[in-house]
Amino acid sequence: MPSWAEQAACAGQTDLFFGSPTEPERERIDRERLALAVCAACPVVAPCRDHARQFRESGIWGGENEKDRRAALKLAPTAATPKGGAEGTDVFRAPIAATGTESAVPTTRHQLGD
Ligand code: SF4
Repeated sequence: MPSWAEQAACAGQTDLFFGSPTEPERERIDRERLALAVCAACPVVAPCRDHARQFRESGIWGGENEKDRRAALKLAPTAATPKGGAEGTDVFRAPIAATGTESAVPTTRHQLGD
């Protein structure tokens, strides 16, 4: 886990940051509004946003939803180039892999503390 994730304001709030594929649009908008409010008060919004852009994460990260991230990457495509190392997505997926739990929902630092 990257060091910044230890300060994540969203720990334990996975359901707020990731919707289901069948989530109604009105519910998605309301859920994302609440998640973005958490991001707005988070001390690690910048490294979180950079990580999500680099690794093309799904869900809310760093004050952005997937649509925001795609738009940002169109303007600055080099932001999506992974730097590699220990801060990659696999690090975030490690905890769920260790439990043997399978999930179609991306596993992220949001699940830490669940
Ligand atoms: S998604 Fe990122 S910026 Fe938003 S609360 Fe979580 S760690 Fe902070």
